[in-house]
Amino acid sequence: MAELQQLDREVTQEEREELEQGLLLTTLEKMVNWARRSSLWPVTFGLACCAIEMMATGASRFDLARFGAEVFRASPRQADLMIVAGRVSRKMAPVLRQIYDQMPEPKWVIAMGACASCGGIFNNYAIVQGVDEIVPVDVYVPGCPPRPEQLIHGIMKLQEKITREHPSRQGLIHLPWLRRKR
Ligand code: SF4
Repeated sequence: MAELQQLDREVTQEEREELEQGLLLTTLEKMVNWARRSSLWPVTFGLACCAIEMMATGASRFDLARFGAEVFRASPRQADLMIVAGRVSRKMAPVLRQIYDQMPEPKWVIAMGACASCGGIFNNYAIVQGVDEIVPVDVYVPGCPPRPEQLIHGIMKLQEKITREHPSRQGLIHLPWLRRKR
């Protein structure tokens, strides 16, 4: 009933009876967003020292599984989240882009740490000065290195962002039986 109290309108008697029977009504977009944000699968992509903190985030002490994002995949085909953990060298940049391109839609990117976000202390020709030069970044996590709690906070921010997305407008929900009037 806590959910009922959060609604910003009166709940009708009919709705109350339906909820008590275990029936829940929502929109397809909300349901899809809920499923997507609750099962983020990060691609394994550690580049430098920040990767150690990313690994710690997935381990038992911090337990990323609480947020549904602990299934790190070795294949980009099975992943929808890229956590860029560490500095990106110019040589690595095309590889990073290729891995990103191999991930299916919808997909999201977190720049973890100062190096991935803006080059950090490596202000030189060999390091990309922010991974957003190569891929679109959804969330930046500051720090050198960020602690696991910070990465978890970044993932929660991403989950909030996914909640506000409109997958049908982006063409990310394919319903062959739904014919739109033009
Ligand atoms: S932000 Fe700090 S910890 Fe992370 S990769 Fe750069 S130097 Fe290493």
